[in-house]
Amino acid sequence: MIPVINTLLQTCGYADHPAVRQAIEDACHNQTSFVDEVLDVPGVNERVFLQALAKLLDLPWWEADPDKTQDRSLRRYLPADVALKNRLLPIGIDTKPSENAAQAIDQASAVEATALHIATSDPLSLVARQQLAASVTLPVVWHVGARTRIAEGLQKLYGLGADTFEKILRGRVDWGAEDLADEVTVLDEPEDEEASVVRFVNQIIRRGLEQRATDIHVEPQQDRLRIRYRIDGRLEELPVPDNIKALQASVIARLKIMARLDIAEKRLPQDGRINLELDGSPIDVRVATIPSVEGESVSLRLLGQQQVTIERLGMADTIRPVVDELLKLPNGIILITGPTGSGKSTTLYAFLTQLNQTHRRIVTIEDPVEYKMPGILQIAVKPEIGLTFATGLRSILRGDPNVVMVGEMRDLETTEIAIRAALTGHLVFSTLHTNDAIGGITRLVDMGVEPFLVSSAVRAFFAQRLVRRLCPLCREPVEVESEYLASINFPTSVKGTLMQARGCESCRGTGFQGRLSIYEVCIMTPALQHLINTRAHPSEFHRQALQDGYLPMRGYGFLKCLQGETTIQEVLSVTASERSFAEAKPTLKPNAPASRAMVAAAP
Ligand SMILES: [Zn+2]
Repeated sequence: MIPVINTLLQTCGYADHPAVRQAIEDACHNQTSFVDEVLDVPGVNERVFLQALAKLLDLPWWEADPDKTQDRSLRRYLPADVALKNRLLPIGIDTKPSENAAQAIDQASAVEATALHIATSDPLSLVARQQLAASVTLPVVWHVGARTRIAEGLQKLYGLGADTFEKILRGRVDWGAEDLADEVTVLDEPEDEEASVVRFVNQIIRRGLEQRATDIHVEPQQDRLRIRYRIDGRLEELPVPDNIKALQASVIARLKIMARLDIAEKRLPQDGRINLELDGSPIDVRVATIPSVEGESVSLRLLGQQQVTIERLGMADTIRPVVDELLKLPNGIILITGPTGSGKSTTLYAFLTQLNQTHRRIVTIEDPVEYKMPGILQIAVKPEIGLTFATGLRSILRGDPNVVMVGEMRDLETTEIAIRAALTGHLVFSTLHTNDAIGGITRLVDMGVEPFLVSSAVRAFFAQRLVRRLCPLCREPVEVESEYLASINFPTSVKGTLMQARGCESCRGTGFQGRLSIYEVCIMTPALQHLINTRAHPSEFHRQALQDGYLPMRGYGFLKCLQGETTIQEVLSVTASERSFAEAKPTLKPNAPASRAMVAAAP
């Protein structure tokens, strides 16, 4: 082995690592980069290895500064394809006052670039240096940095797929203009526009899945094509090259082809599906197009097929035993309430997964089927052919089920059939759109269900919301003033540690990873049954439930704060509005005169 490499391995402590030595042998034999080969060996610490290399070569070490926003103007000093292909990240320029600084109209033209600083993880790559020399005239100052940090920096600076687009667009605009920049791409395999767009679209989806996105939105804007991911309930913009706008039509057409939509139809909304596979596991993607004035916008909803279990819901000890008891019941209705996107389906699927055993026949009717569960008969409603929740449920009940799940109790007919099913020996699960668990009682009665049917069929009302889960790798303890805690009725007697978000590489600086459900459960007790049957005021239901051990969702959320799983702010943000709404509810009246006044005031 080359002595210099031996020194390197000794410095970083990998001298006796057989896999590392083998990787270097392979690299010499195959004439590939030994740096990449070594970094690909599992267990090799890239920082330790690369810092040793930097030291050996006497090159400065580059560290990404997470607080500093990247200077996007650096892009003009190095073309995207050269940068991305060779993983060379421009990190800064040296300047001197320009000769005609006196006449300069702005700061940029008052200075002159004298050197370009570039970070690389492979300072020994001859190809990279040659390609760089062919496209950059400034002297280069080399830095060594972590391979992962450089990849991230490149993605931020140039945007996803920038190399591909630069090539396509150059082909389009300057066909035949053979300049130096074209020469350096001769190493690339020839790639046509279609293949590049396909690759780009795949990259968007793959990256979305890697970042646990639930939705991807491709939205044409007047001057650009915006791509956003919804991660943990929040939208985040994906950096893409500016020139992608020119290929907007191809990108959207590709998505429509994948979803088997009519690509000629651009004026009407369409929806379809894509079945993908990522690393062996199937991904179901629901696609919807919306014609906007700026062009068609495409939304992808990514539905993973990973199993949802009760364990994964992370229920607190206060309600887990309650849930176990409820799931043992032979009949009755268990309702889950909450607005759209509060995680109701996940909870329902977890319950069904728990009950999914050979001696039980489970049938569902859903709109649409979000997760496919083996062993469970799932039906999707199709109102256009007359298959509604009500008709579907009727035919399900003729099919000898033990457990039935009805996606939503939208109308009186469906609700009444479900109640009859519960009273005739079936365990029924469904959802309602109400703000809190107890509101479910009033909702059913308001729909026209007889109070005694509600009290005899329903076993429990759940309500839930999703809060962001603190990143377990970087969360840190926090002291909160006791006056503040008292003002929000925080349980100060319960032991635990409050944590706050910090942000690390793993959570992309957000301090949060994934989400967690917070729950409240209102159990149908004899006392509550009596109040419902005698048509008591809803506030009485609330008082009784509290007496029977009901813990409101905010209290449940606070327990999760004390376990360091989320923050007080997260819990308050999802429980605040509904609390004041619940309090205001008895006096809430339709505000007709005000809206009429507004109409009248309009010209
Ligand atoms: Zn973190």
